[in-house]
Amino acid sequence: MDDVNRRTGTGSAASPGNVVAVLRDLGPVTRQQLQQHLGLSRATLVERLDVLARHRLVTTVGLRASSGGRPAQLLAVDRTSRVAVVGAVGATLVSVGVADLRGTVLAERTERLPPGHTPDDVLPWLLDTARDQLRTLGRQGDLAAAGLAVPGQIDQRTGISVMPPTMTAWRDQPLRTPLAEGLSVDVQLENDANALAYGEYLAADAPRATVLGVSVGSGIGAGVVIGGRPHRGATGCAGEIGHIRIEDREERCTCGRHGCVAALASGTALVRRLRFDGVRTIPDVIRRVSTGEQFASDLAHEAGRLVGTVLATVVTILNPDLVRVGGEIGSLPPFLAGLTSTLREQAHEVAARGLDIGPAVLGERAQLVGLAGLAAEAVLAPAAVDRLAAG
Ligand SMILES: [Zn+2]
Repeated sequence: MDDVNRRTGTGSAASPGNVVAVLRDLGPVTRQQLQQHLGLSRATLVERLDVLARHRLVTTVGLRASSGGRPAQLLAVDRTSRVAVVGAVGATLVSVGVADLRGTVLAERTERLPPGHTPDDVLPWLLDTARDQLRTLGRQGDLAAAGLAVPGQIDQRTGISVMPPTMTAWRDQPLRTPLAEGLSVDVQLENDANALAYGEYLAADAPRATVLGVSVGSGIGAGVVIGGRPHRGATGCAGEIGHIRIEDREERCTCGRHGCVAALASGTALVRRLRFDGVRTIPDVIRRVSTGEQFASDLAHEAGRLVGTVLATVVTILNPDLVRVGGEIGSLPPFLAGLTSTLREQAHEVAARGLDIGPAVLGERAQLVGLAGLAAEAVLAPAAVDRLAAG
């Protein structure tokens, strides 16, 4: 069996958490197969499965035909019995939804945000909307976790958003605590591009895949999933490609430095470069490009090429299987075309050969699905299952 993502070996073989871990690794199996794999007595296994069924963590998913005798029931982890609240805040958009532990989004709402918004403007709305969604779905009692994606670096220890350059009012703001108190569940904070990359990793359904997710909206960020895990880096800023400097360019960036790729190729930069022509907002840029206006489309293409130049280095270092590009600007066809052609030209030939580059297949939902997947990992972790079973 492929062991790249094995979760077993953390608890005792007999613990409920370990039974769930083995079920996740093996996929649907019969009681007998599970018993053989775990080396438990039949009585102990029945007891564990009773506890897990009572907590709605294990369910039967069908029958396995057998040669002679009765067909045996197949057991699997129940990923539909619990839900997570998932939210994503960017400089211009906020989304909030409810998803189950398969990553199926059951309710979703997206709103545009005013410039300069603060956590005090957004978090109460996010909490109210999530509670409404849970109530409408009749799933208040099933809430098990929550996740929030924001741009920039996150201090995972304190749950503080450290430095989103496109959202200055969110700098050094505690986000985990108010959400955890508001929803009475554990909250995971994640960088927006990491959440996108994880969503796309799940959609690819390839456990070994290394996925590079790129998000281009007001700012530019990237996230990496390696061997099924988001790679956050030593200080939580892995993938912050927006502030890599492009040589000989002096445009001032929102981070305070000059010549960053975000100052040239982000949505904010495109608004600035089209201001002379009456463009004021990112939706204005999108409208101009979507209606085929030549100058705006050429600028979007050039922006894609600049991001492609930066990504060529990243791709050469990581040698990923997939590059998935999302965000309001990232999903514009001229931008994506510029990014793709430059990346193919400039990355190492072998890393570029066969590299699958494309738009985020989950579209605007990629971050929410990624957060639901991360919530599932937290809820189904052996220690979390053992705590639940003991409670
Ligand atoms: Zn910068």
